[in-house]
Amino acid sequence: MTPREVDTVLLAGRAITMAAEVPEGPVAIAVADGRIVAVVPRAEADRYVGPGTTVLDAGNRTVLPGFVDPHAHFEVAARTRHLTVDCRAPRCGSVSDVLDTLRDGLGEARDGWLVGQGNLFFDRKLAERRFPTRAELDSVSRDVAVAVRAGGHVTLLNSRALELAGIDGTYRPVQHSITGRPTVERGSDGTPTGVVKEMDKLLPFPRLGAGELEDAILDGLGDLFTRYGVTTLGEISETVDGLGIMDSGHVRGLLGTRLHVYLWAPGTASLDEACAHRSWLRFAADESRIRVHGVKVFADGGYSAASAALRRPYALAGHGCGEMAMSAEEIRGALLQTADAGLQLAIHANGDRAQAEVCAAIEGALDRLPAGAPTTRIEHAGNFLPDYDTATAAYRRAGIIPVPQPVFLYNFGEFLPDYVGEYARDTQFPFRRLLDDGWNLSGSSDVWVGSEEAQTNPFFSVWCCVQRRSFHGASVSDDQRISVLEALRMHTLGGAGALGEEASRGSLEPGKLADLLVVDRDPLGVPADELRDVRVDQVFLGGEPVFVRENSAARPVRFGSA
Ligand SMILES: [Zn+2]
Repeated sequence: MTPREVDTVLLAGRAITMAAEVPEGPVAIAVADGRIVAVVPRAEADRYVGPGTTVLDAGNRTVLPGFVDPHAHFEVAARTRHLTVDCRAPRCGSVSDVLDTLRDGLGEARDGWLVGQGNLFFDRKLAERRFPTRAELDSVSRDVAVAVRAGGHVTLLNSRALELAGIDGTYRPVQHSITGRPTVERGSDGTPTGVVKEMDKLLPFPRLGAGELEDAILDGLGDLFTRYGVTTLGEISETVDGLGIMDSGHVRGLLGTRLHVYLWAPGTASLDEACAHRSWLRFAADESRIRVHGVKVFADGGYSAASAALRRPYALAGHGCGEMAMSAEEIRGALLQTADAGLQLAIHANGDRAQAEVCAAIEGALDRLPAGAPTTRIEHAGNFLPDYDTATAAYRRAGIIPVPQPVFLYNFGEFLPDYVGEYARDTQFPFRRLLDDGWNLSGSSDVWVGSEEAQTNPFFSVWCCVQRRSFHGASVSDDQRISVLEALRMHTLGGAGALGEEASRGSLEPGKLADLLVVDRDPLGVPADELRDVRVDQVFLGGEPVFVRENSAARPVRFGSA
């Protein structure tokens, strides 16, 4: 391409481009009309600079392509941040820390409720290795209903909360809630212990007002994603109202992360409605900022509630092999219907049995798919592969793209054997093997209720891929470590690949969106344990700055002989 005057030239010490061609040493990145025009040695920058060009100098810092997180529940996380007291470990190290934090938060109770957020596998992360009891939560208050959400599947209630929820000795939960089969745990005399599962949608928790939801979403996207350098997010939708706020936030230029929405069916809309979204959901913002990209369905549950569908029975007493939430016929139907609507199907399938059944159902429908149909994603495929060869052969036959979550290695890698059995010890997150076998891997946060504090920071996820340390520091299959560059590629080009957007983003190459980051140190040059501390100094979306850490913006400079 002939050099020409561009809108912006960014000078930096180094670029980790993720492309085949990497200029060594100081670089210049030329940007015009929101896209990258060239990535060249700094000495060639003047070829792109004219009178109208803004030249920014990031000094000797490193530039990276913006991160792509293909699977997050941003709205859920944003609402949770706004409505709950943070009781997560390790911020709270023990049951008494949790109780103190709840007591301190009593002033924030609303509509008679105080809701705390604990993390997934909360009972394994607190020093006592158990949940706070109903009596302990009663010690916080007998008048205020106290609930602690230990992730999105398990909630702990005090006596007042049980009373307000109408859960007594004779209460019978409905057969199904939106996340699985509701359960009320009872003591030997039939009295509820306060531990309930899959009940969150059935409990009368306080709700956010419209203005509060707007604040939660507009602040939340920046705090949870943009400031960590996530420039494209695959958002699993929660509410239509929430999507409307995201749209208007983009129209008003208040948001710095592109949103590719997967409509959750049936949580947000029925499958029929999701496939007909054009008739009822119109975004006013440019579709490069927010658009409906696909549909998300759940084929099974989660490990923490023992509802992921496994081939072998859970190691936990009283549990079978988990349950499928969709039949083969329903999976095929969802695939064909979404493909006809031009939408990508993302199927949540945690357990090995769920993945096998989903792959078999898809394989049986491949000959009926329209030409050019989007590649089907299986969410959580790649996390736990007790029978690697069988599983990956099935992935290949079904033509799916696995979408793993490296952060789960930290969340529960060391706890999974207790839940599913010893065979889980060395069969989790086999990223080394998957990459060697040619799979496109991505890294996503899957942030939801009960995530870790750092969960939405891609550098934390990169650290998980490289160091493979679980919550208490236990190593999880060290032989499956990957290099820093491979891990960065998962969170950029790999994420773009999961969305089918590798042609438009994920690397610093001419023609791609000018979504890029300046970071405070070279991630390829720091000790591995420091990876999670790499800070994003500045974020550009389509060449425009959307986030700057205090006093760390690239400096505008006069350039050339003019
Ligand atoms: Zn998810």
